[in-house]
Amino acid sequence: MHELSMAQGIINAVIETAESNNATEVNEVTIELGRLAMVNPEQLEFILGVLVENTILEDAKIVFEEIPVEIDCHDCNFHGKAIIDDKDHYAPMVKCPECDSFAIEILNGKDIVVKNIVIEKPDDD
Ligand SMILES: [Zn+2]
Repeated sequence: MHELSMAQGIINAVIETAESNNATEVNEVTIELGRLAMVNPEQLEFILGVLVENTILEDAKIVFEEIPVEIDCHDCNFHGKAIIDDKDHYAPMVKCPECDSFAIEILNGKDIVVKNIVIEKPDDD
């Protein structure tokens, strides 16, 4: 399952960061979710909830931020947010909002990134 390996990767990255910062607990994790990452957010959230058990981020609040898709259009040189036809979630069509061209380069929106984590340290109040 795609979401399972994604979730495991996210958790490993958070644990690594937390440990290298001597955290005793992770309070919050912000995850950027690209519109084209082909991940079902509810499913990812569910798997994360299972995988964090008995880890340093067991009680962490997990926040998802959706990233818009940014493109460069080869036909009209438009640069910015694309239109996404995602009626079919597994093969969304991305096109230029200016000229409807599909001759585009996708710059952003394909990744899942751990953007920020909030940790607790032993000397914190
Ligand atoms: Zn265009």
